[in-house]
Amino acid sequence: MEERRPSKKPLIFYWTIAIVVFFLLNIFVFPSFLSVQIQEVDYRTFLTLLEEKQIGQVEVEENQITFTNLDASKIYKTGNMNDPELIDRLVDSGAGFGTEIKKETDPLLYSLVSIILPVALMFGVWTFISKKMAQQMGKNPNMMQFGMGKSGAKLYVKSDNSVTFRDVAGEEEAKELLREIVDYLHAPEKYARIGASLPKGALLVGPPGTGKTLLAKAVAGEANVPFFSISGSEFVQMFVGLGAAKVRDLFRQAKEKAPCIVFIDEIDAIGKKRDGRIGGNDEQEQTLNQLLTEMDGFDGSRGVVILAATNRPESLDPALLRPGRFDRRIPVELPDLQGRIDILKVHAAKVRTDGNEDYTAIARAASGCSGAELANIVNEAALRAVRQGRDAVSQEDLMESIEVVIAGYQKKNKILSDSEKRVVAYHEVGHALVAALQNHSAPVEKITIIPRTSGALGYTMQVDEGERFLLTKTELENKITTFTGGRAAEELVFHEISTGASNDIEQATKLARAMITRYGMSEEFGMVALEHTENQYLGGDASLACSSQTQTRIDEMTVSLVARQYKKACTLLSENIEKLHKISAYLYERETLTGEQFMEMLKS
Ligand code: ADP
Ligand code: MG
Ligand code: ZN
Repeated sequence: MEERRPSKKPLIFYWTIAIVVFFLLNIFVFPSFLSVQIQEVDYRTFLTLLEEKQIGQVEVEENQITFTNLDASKIYKTGNMNDPELIDRLVDSGAGFGTEIKKETDPLLYSLVSIILPVALMFGVWTFISKKMAQQMGKNPNMMQFGMGKSGAKLYVKSDNSVTFRDVAGEEEAKELLREIVDYLHAPEKYARIGASLPKGALLVGPPGTGKTLLAKAVAGEANVPFFSISGSEFVQMFVGLGAAKVRDLFRQAKEKAPCIVFIDEIDAIGKKRDGRIGGNDEQEQTLNQLLTEMDGFDGSRGVVILAATNRPESLDPALLRPGRFDRRIPVELPDLQGRIDILKVHAAKVRTDGNEDYTAIARAASGCSGAELANIVNEAALRAVRQGRDAVSQEDLMESIEVVIAGYQKKNKILSDSEKRVVAYHEVGHALVAALQNHSAPVEKITIIPRTSGALGYTMQVDEGERFLLTKTELENKITTFTGGRAAEELVFHEISTGASNDIEQATKLARAMITRYGMSEEFGMVALEHTENQYLGGDASLACSSQTQTRIDEMTVSLVARQYKKACTLLSENIEKLHKISAYLYERETLTGEQFMEMLKS
């Protein structure tokens, strides 16, 4: 796919010239041209002209005489010589006198010439330029119009290296829905025959990095029609107050080019709920109103399809989501195991591999990763291979880069003191042991105590056996126990606790709280929702929806739930204290343990 965006340079260039010309005219040309030219002559010349009867009007002032020639086309001046015969001479010459001679230009005329003329001139230049541009566009219909108030949309035209659905792995449902749109744009008659009209707009929603933008580009690559792409923030970008104009312009262009696709990325930037607050964001509201109007303004049969993408669908204005506008909602979710395998393959095809990769293992270890993260993992692996002077990516590179993407790079120069290293070893083995001892928890994939740039001093990587969609109450409780296992080991062995557990504490608390407030897993509250999730796709912040007494109660229950699991972890570990000592010592020596090594030691 090729992106065309004509440069804005010529327009600015022309405007600069016009403005410079304006000032030059005003400073140098108009003053001399407009103010009346008065020629200074000596008294003798005046007298001679007077005698020859060459003078039309004379104005005598105290120390200056101004006079004109016969047809008043020239004005002269000379000093007043205090000549007592002057009056007689004037009468003799037949010149008119006693009146005033106009020595200055009419101010009205002046402003007319110095302002209106240049403006008219500039307007002329401008129309000339736009005409020329229109001609250019006639020659090249894919060229876009540009300038102030123009939509600023990028127009993609099909080229050989365009993105197609083949480049988007997984996301079969989304592709299915989009394929229908592509099909419609190819053969609208097929749909018209039975009177079906296509949805005017489709909204791609999902977490960041799941391939929404990529999907839209693939539609453009497949559809073979003009594809306008603009990001929501671009409407409110550079020129404040032009958002609505830009929307109008975008749709005008789209209608001209129909059938075509308009893609508005990150639509939440302009489509936010109007909250009706006085003094709210007027600019944004106007832009949104314009968008709503435009979407109503054309019928689907014109063949303009609007795609939009967002990861905050709940913040969009309901008017935008009603049928007739964005009536189709296409969820683009995080990929499942098979999806991850496919995405890894798509991206691994772009790098040279040694042929021994096990994508299933990588995809399993990268559970919860988005498409963008998986693409990043493959790239990191390739970088690692280059760094180590190899010419192909190996399985090991891929596994290591998962850790890089999840936990950051290995921190080479961070040296833990001996006692710290021992604490970290016990802490991590504590997690792993607790996880392994509770049969519901997933097996351990890897334990390491090599510090990472993310700040983690070590970590335990757990890998789910299969894809999990439901978690039972027991499993959740076990998860909390596993989170507390690190701290439990520290306390059990050193009778002292450290700051190393802060992340564990955070996660355990979050989980315990969610069990009570969202999953209805407490006896006391049962199936009552005590929290709303706000951003389902962006971290899922939750806001409480209960009285302050209930809040207090939730806090108490969270504390006791976590405490209960912590106690359970302590019990599990003290029952297996020799294993804890043995594996920790081993980890302390080697710094990294694989899942198999760990299980072997556990069973021996
Ligand atoms: P977003 O959903 O945030 O718009 P993008 O479409 O920009 O995400 O995806 C970012 C990158 O992640 C893409 O350029 C692509 O390399 C990769 N990616 C995401 N999802 C997929 C997928 N399903 N198949 C292949 N690559 C993907
Ligand atoms: Mg995007
Ligand atoms: Zn921990």
